[in-house]
Amino acid sequence: MPTSRLAAIETACRAKGLRVTGPRRVIAQVLSEAHDHPDVTELHRRAAARDARISLATVYRTVKMFEDIGVIERHAFNDGRARYERTPTEHHDHLIDVKSGKVIEFHSEEIEELQAQIAAKLGYRIVGHRLELYVEPLPKKSAGA
Ligand SMILES: [Zn+2]
Repeated sequence: MPTSRLAAIETACRAKGLRVTGPRRVIAQVLSEAHDHPDVTELHRRAAARDARISLATVYRTVKMFEDIGVIERHAFNDGRARYERTPTEHHDHLIDVKSGKVIEFHSEEIEELQAQIAAKLGYRIVGHRLELYVEPLPKKSAGA
C-alpha cells in the first residue's frame, strides 16, 4: 500500500510539472507511510532520519508545494500547529484527544446524511466539510466494576 500512495504523490507532482527530487521523494515517502497527522517538525525528524541533508526549510517548502497541488491536507487542530496527512481517498472526520493530542479518524454515515439534510433545508448542497471533535478520555471504570 505505501508504495502506491507514494506513486500517487509522484504522479500528481509530475502532472503539475514538478520534478520529484531526492528530498521531495523522501518527504513524500514519509507522508505516505504516516498513519498519524504529523506536524512539520515531526515530518522533518522522520525525513532527516533517512537523509540527514534534508533541512527543516526544505520540509516546509515541500509540504507547502504538496498542499498547493492537493496531494496532502493541512489541519489546524486547536493546538494551532499545522499537521498534515495525505489527501484521503475516502472522507473521514477527526476526534482530537485534548489530553494526549492523539488524533483519531472516524466516519459516520449518519453524520454525513444529517449534514446534507441541514444544508438542503437551507437551500445548499455540501461541497466539503471538516468536523473536529475535541474530547478527553472517559474516566476508567474501577477494576471489577
Ligand atoms: Zn485524518
